[in-house]
Amino acid sequence: MPELPEVEITRRGIEPFVLGKTITGVAVRNPNLRRRVPRNFARLVVGRLVKRLVRRGKYLLLECDGGSLIVHLGMSGSLRVIDPQTPPREHDHLDLVFGGTALRLRDPRRFGMVLWSAGDVSRNPLLAKLGVEPLGGRFSPEFLYRATRGRDVGVKQLLMNARVVVGIGNIYANESLFRAGIHPRTRAGRLSFARCERLVAAVRDTLLGYFQQHYYVYDRAALPCRVCGAAIRVARLGQRSSFFCATCQR
Ligand SMILES: [Zn+2]
Repeated sequence: MPELPEVEITRRGIEPFVLGKTITGVAVRNPNLRRRVPRNFARLVVGRLVKRLVRRGKYLLLECDGGSLIVHLGMSGSLRVIDPQTPPREHDHLDLVFGGTALRLRDPRRFGMVLWSAGDVSRNPLLAKLGVEPLGGRFSPEFLYRATRGRDVGVKQLLMNARVVVGIGNIYANESLFRAGIHPRTRAGRLSFARCERLVAAVRDTLLGYFQQHYYVYDRAALPCRVCGAAIRVARLGQRSSFFCATCQR
């Protein structure tokens, strides 16, 4: 399942291809995602310029004039930057076309979502009640200490509650609690301030550690580019190996 760091990596990967670009077409091959892609989807989005690409929790938001496209990758979704003429394969349910390139959603299990949300996207019911971002400044020891007072649930359950803090799935909750030396069943309300400090640091380290292990190109010779799927190449430049994608890097 794509977790918060994977979604952030996707955001960074697709940003150069969608930011400041106009949606010139859509192809909906299968509208039956977790929520049905609306019938008038093309009418809603074609002609709109993407002004910002932001991540909120595990949602990607393509903010345009008048509203935003909300994309969620669900359990098995991925976005690829492709030539729009590339023949679709099975599970390639939807394309957003930006002139000569397209974003293609593949989602074998179809728990993903592509929705148009008119107006201020932060008020959309999917997003309005989301907690703080674990890599943002608001996720502080003070915040966690306050958020846990009077809470009788286990600290792991609280950490995975998206209304408190977003995007900490099971893997990251387990890893963070291990690093902080806190038993997952510890009552949240009984965490000392010192333990909140350790846990906040552990959550950040765990999430950031993921980014360090998941390079786009370094040490990925012959593996598929995370953006376009082409094989990563390696060349010797001077005495050092250089890794690059010949499609994404011109
Ligand atoms: Zn590439």
